[in-house]
Amino acid sequence: MCILVGALLITVMSVARMPNTEFPMTGKFLILGVRAEMADAQTIKVLQQLEVQCQSCMQECMLTEGEGLVDVQGAGLLSCPHCGEHQAVSRARFEQFLQMTVRKA
Ligand SMILES: [Zn+2]
Repeated sequence: MCILVGALLITVMSVARMPNTEFPMTGKFLILGVRAEMADAQTIKVLQQLEVQCQSCMQECMLTEGEGLVDVQGAGLLSCPHCGEHQAVSRARFEQFLQMTVRKA
């Protein structure tokens, strides 16, 4: 009985942790894709487009400059076009994402 309970807990925990290891969570938005103009290989100059999933309404959406995305020196002010949820996300988050994924334009 004890062994069964323990195994179940481990299973639940590993499933719950999966998204965090694959995609960076900002808290309110799950980042699925980033397109940015780079100053160099590691440094974002201007954010151009973000693909995110809003954790408030669970809708996936594409954010572009003036359409849910405001670039502030590489940081982003994100807002969900579906429910209005919004959050500021630091440039380091996006740079971390770009380091994790290799996406050719
Ligand atoms: Zn939303």
